[in-house]
Amino acid sequence: MQYHEIVQQLRQAFPQPVSDLVHDSYFVTTVLRVLDQVDAMKSRAPLLGKPEELDYNAARLQRIPSGPQSLESVASQLVRRLSGMFIWGHPRSQNNVVPSPTIPGILGGLLPSIYNPNLCSDESSRGVAVAEVETIAMTADLVGYDAATAGGVFTFGGTGTLLYAARIGLEKCCPGTKSRGISGSPVVICSDRAHYACLTVANWLGLGEDNVVRIPTSDDNEMFPCLLESEMKRLLEEGRPIACIVATMGTTDAFGLDDLQAIRNIRDELTEQYHLDYTPHLHADAVIGWAWSVFNGYDFGTNPLGFPHRTVRALAGTHRRMRHLGLSDSLGIDYHKTGFAPYISSAFLCRDAADLQLIARSPSSTPYLFQSGEYHPGRYTLETTRSGSGPMSALANLLLFGRDGLRSLLGHLVGMAETLREHLEGSASTTVLNGGNFGSVTLFRVYPDGVDTFNMPRREMEDFSAREQLLAHNDYNRRIFQLIQHRALHGEGVVLSLTDCYRYSKHGDPVVALKSYIMSPFSEEKYVDFVLQSIWKARQRLQETGG
Ligand SMILES: *Cc1c(COP(=O)(O)O)cnc(C)c1O
Repeated sequence: MQYHEIVQQLRQAFPQPVSDLVHDSYFVTTVLRVLDQVDAMKSRAPLLGKPEELDYNAARLQRIPSGPQSLESVASQLVRRLSGMFIWGHPRSQNNVVPSPTIPGILGGLLPSIYNPNLCSDESSRGVAVAEVETIAMTADLVGYDAATAGGVFTFGGTGTLLYAARIGLEKCCPGTKSRGISGSPVVICSDRAHYACLTVANWLGLGEDNVVRIPTSDDNEMFPCLLESEMKRLLEEGRPIACIVATMGTTDAFGLDDLQAIRNIRDELTEQYHLDYTPHLHADAVIGWAWSVFNGYDFGTNPLGFPHRTVRALAGTHRRMRHLGLSDSLGIDYHKTGFAPYISSAFLCRDAADLQLIARSPSSTPYLFQSGEYHPGRYTLETTRSGSGPMSALANLLLFGRDGLRSLLGHLVGMAETLREHLEGSASTTVLNGGNFGSVTLFRVYPDGVDTFNMPRREMEDFSAREQLLAHNDYNRRIFQLIQHRALHGEGVVLSLTDCYRYSKHGDPVVALKSYIMSPFSEEKYVDFVLQSIWKARQRLQETGG
């Protein structure tokens, strides 16, 4: 074939620049066909298609084809790649903080992928740039910032939000780092339950992972403020600059919540006491917890949405900490976690938009950009090209849910988790570990027959003489998990996950836990029973095989 014939043929694979009803319907039909093919992969099981052995050797042997293939063939080949994927929105999928995206959220991803706005500047993204500003303003107001003076940008995930925080904080404590590089061994402070992204950021910014100071946490997975205070004093007396204090507002495994108000007070007092010429930057890693700020203004007393008592208690327990989000200097938000948006939809928010100027590039370094328009986030974003899908999906869901929608959804998920906890607490062979954290995630341990579960969990944590049992039970929980996972991969039972280290025991041994993260809007009590059945089946299996 001659090149011009090939080009002619390839044109069919692009959306038409000028509306052509015949071709437009070809586009739509192709999408419908793809969705039909995916739909045919659904069964009652929480996965698409059938369990697949993943063949990376065959993958490495793949090469680009010599000529073009038809759009239909490519579409089917893409669909096949989804076989074996868990369906996160299935009520029997409870393995992590992965949501099922909403239909408007999906459209928020689809439209920009057709028209390709680039959020580098409003020259290249027009109204989609405005959507970013709208979404940031709505969220800033929601969490308790003054939306008129707050600012923010979408970035490449929760890790990106921490990177922005540490980078801005670094410029505050060591002005000129931008041009001269790092000096004086600045530190990042977070809790020992904070996300490993704090280490990633220290590593990638060149601060060094050893300069991440981790403050011990209580049994409820929150930083001890008194230990933060003594550690900050020690660091300040050594003359160490503090680039960032990270308060984790919803730890990844257990949904522990740091006391942001106490942390803020300590930061303010020590700034004054030590006559610092900068204010250490206080970032709230609220990538999971932010959504609970929809309960700002909710009357838990009259409870107009009619949540059950236990749910109200759990929601109020979280709100008690989350209502202080506005005290932070910056915040990380993952709409792609508790906001039901598709990946990637994460925003970094600053209480004071002027903070973003601390990391801005000089206009002379970008001579070919920003020639018109008035919104040029590309001046301070790490990325040059940024997709419009993050803000469009986030905006879609904020509009779809409104406060009451997100309240209802979160309340339902938390209520389901409470039901699961009630069952787990009522059983002689299971123990809930994060009973003091009120999210939709439950960490628990399963024990073999004959273990006194009133005593054992505490002894494992505190008593060195119970070390052998702790390690044996870690192993037991791993095997329970493997059995549950094996069944899940075959579409039976529930999809749970395992954490290798819920916490360390007093003597430094990791405590393994099973994890149920309820995220599906389709969750109902009967699926909670599935969790219990899966556990009993696995226990029985181990007993039979002498495990
Ligand atoms: C998930 C998570 C992160 C990382 O966010 P990504 O969006 O996965 O990059 C950071 N902090 C906390 C507390 C998290 O749960």
